[in-house]
Amino acid sequence: MKLFNSLTNKKEDFTPIQAGSVSIYSCGPTVYDKIHIGNLRAFITADLLQRSLRIVEKLSVRWVMNITDIDDKIIARLERDYPGVEPEAARAKLTTQYQEVFLQDISRVGIKQSDVQIVSAVDSMVAMQQMIENLYRQGIAYISEGSVYFSVERYRATGQVYGQLVNLDYEAEARVTDDQDQKEGVADFALWKAQKPGEPAWQFVLDGNELPGRPGWHIECSAMSVGALGQPFDIHTGGVDLKFPHHENEIAQAGGTLANYFVHNEFLNVNAEKMSKSLNNFFTLDDVADPLAFRLLCLQAHYRSQMDFSDESIQAAHNRLLGLRAAVRKNQYAQESGVTLQLKADANKAFAHNFAEAIRDDLNTPLALAALAEYEKEASMSAGFAEQIAWADQVLGIGLVNEVIPFSSEEQALIAERNAARAQSDFATSDKIRDGLRVRNIDVEDLSGSSLYWRM
Ligand SMILES: [Zn+2]
Repeated sequence: MKLFNSLTNKKEDFTPIQAGSVSIYSCGPTVYDKIHIGNLRAFITADLLQRSLRIVEKLSVRWVMNITDIDDKIIARLERDYPGVEPEAARAKLTTQYQEVFLQDISRVGIKQSDVQIVSAVDSMVAMQQMIENLYRQGIAYISEGSVYFSVERYRATGQVYGQLVNLDYEAEARVTDDQDQKEGVADFALWKAQKPGEPAWQFVLDGNELPGRPGWHIECSAMSVGALGQPFDIHTGGVDLKFPHHENEIAQAGGTLANYFVHNEFLNVNAEKMSKSLNNFFTLDDVADPLAFRLLCLQAHYRSQMDFSDESIQAAHNRLLGLRAAVRKNQYAQESGVTLQLKADANKAFAHNFAEAIRDDLNTPLALAALAEYEKEASMSAGFAEQIAWADQVLGIGLVNEVIPFSSEEQALIAERNAARAQSDFATSDKIRDGLRVRNIDVEDLSGSSLYWRM
């Protein structure tokens, strides 16, 4: 498989560290509110990646995602949502509530919880403190007014590059350095933040100094990814907005090498505008009637292209999804009812090939969906169609294959009655029964010598 690696800005052949298996880390949500659909695009992209590696490349996948359950945004919410509640108890309540909402959201867009291992920042406190201590012992981290900072200057002095994912004009930035805050350098960032009154805090003793406080956001991901997957691991994913400073800092904290591939997805726009609270075009999954249609809409764009969300685009994706499901169901009912379907071996083979090749080319889902549309046109009423689609849907995850619900005895009686009428060329009766079946959401196609009935 070829993947676009943000570390090299090139499409590269993906080679896992350990033959046959892949380790993936995705930056998860900060659980203080509902996530917006732009965030969801990042998780759908990561899920697409892990499914593709499993189904198309037949690799075993270990996929880890963090939950940021302590950070500035969370603390800001505590006073609003839980006034008067003890800070740590309030934090636990707020984050548990929104972690639940998040897990439901990702499951609604087709991400199976059994595929992803969720790790909590608060549960990883020891690993974070160890990483900070390690940086301090190397002289890269320093203590200032109860907080611990990462010195970009000192890190660069060890010969490491700060700016692996983005071109940083570090010299220009360094020139504007003043003694702002408690930092040595303007690019320095907090590894550990001193407790302020009323904030939840954890004990941390560093070099004999008692530093009650909480971890910085960046250290969470370095510690959790390495803790769960080792160092380096294969693929780190996230939205492009996380490239800098978040991922750059993750790399620096890990000593310069964190993951071999960084895969970043582009933004989601709403009506061609950037989603923002001030434009009042901020949507969550609750604003989307069909979550899997949203997933399809995401897949209709390449993950490295900006995508557009609008009433029209989500409606079109919804219609497309219904159309595809209907085609699959019709084929399934044909098989169930013993209608002989012709085998189009060439079309089956061409589809499997084209679909897999598109996915292997840096997850080119628009091309894969085009191959699927072509195949649907050519072979939707041939043998093996439903099975092939079921295979492709293991990658796409949009619920294309549904259970075939057998006809009830009442429905069977109507079908038999209609078949008998047709056999006697009593078309008035057969048409009347057909209309009645359609009201029950059963559609009919009369073939030579037999009729096919299926649920719409
Ligand atoms: Zn992260």
